[in-house]
Formats: sequence, C-alpha cells, structure tokens
Amino acid sequence: METDFENLLRKNHLKVTQPRLSVLQIIAERDAAISQPVLEKMMGDEVDRVTLYRILKTFEEKGILHKVMDLNGTANYAICSSSCTEHEHHDEHFHFNCTNCHQVYCMNNFHLPPIQLPSGFKAGSLTLAITGICNHCNEKVQSS
Ligand SMILES: [Zn+2]
Ligand SMILES: [Zn+2]
Ligand SMILES: [Zn+2]
Repeated sequence: METDFENLLRKNHLKVTQPRLSVLQIIAERDAAISQPVLEKMMGDEVDRVTLYRILKTFEEKGILHKVMDLNGTANYAICSSSCTEHEHHDEHFHFNCTNCHQVYCMNNFHLPPIQLPSGFKAGSLTLAITGICNHCNEKVQSS
C-alpha cells in the first residue's frame, strides 16, 4: 500500500527512496523542527551527510520542508503547510524558540498579519520568532 509520504514524493515528481521516506517520517513524528546534525544521528548508517544535505535541499525547494533558524543559528527543518508549492513557501506562522532546550516549534495556528511594505519592496519570506520556554521544558520545571 502507498503511504502518504510516497504520495507526497510522487506528487512532487521525486523518486521514492528509503532515505527520503525516513527523513519525512522522522520529521513528521516530532513536534519540534529538527537540525541536520540531529537528523543525521537519527538516520545512522542509512544515509551519508552529502545525501542528507541534498534531500533537505530538494525538499525545501519543493515546498515540502521549510528552514527555521534556532537560537544557535543552526538551520532546522519543519514540515510545510499544504499551501506551500515549488519555489513558493507560505509558512507565515510564528516560530517559537525555546531558550532552555533550543528547539524550534512551528506555531501553525498563529498566522502573521499581512504587512504593508513601502513601494518598491517585494516580500520574499516572512518569519517572526517568539523566544521563551516550551511546553516540555515548562513541565519539567513545574514537576521538579
Ligand atoms: Zn513551506
Ligand atoms: Zn524547551
Ligand atoms: Zn514553521
């Protein structure tokens, strides 16, 4: 049977490969975005660094994943909303940076208001980050 991820790859005219499926699976299972080094560790021997880099780059170009910077300035990747298409991202939501665990979360339910730019300016992507303590870290503080 075809999985949703296989469909997603085919829809974007990408060959279905095991590493590509694994990357999607790992990212979809998390509630936070993931950085390449962490992803690399989780994939183990399944993929080398260069291949993983290419997979992430392709996914970003195809509108499957979007890049978010964490507080260390490391690129993290998160699944895109369904309105993203090739070369056109619509991830206009807040990103939450946890100052404790340094994870980045997509706040998909909070959309950014449309912004009026001065004439001559053309908006590409728009990001807005909130810094604070995430729910996982908050729970730990409260229970200890
Ligand atoms: Zn996107
Ligand atoms: Zn946290
Ligand atoms: Zn996001």
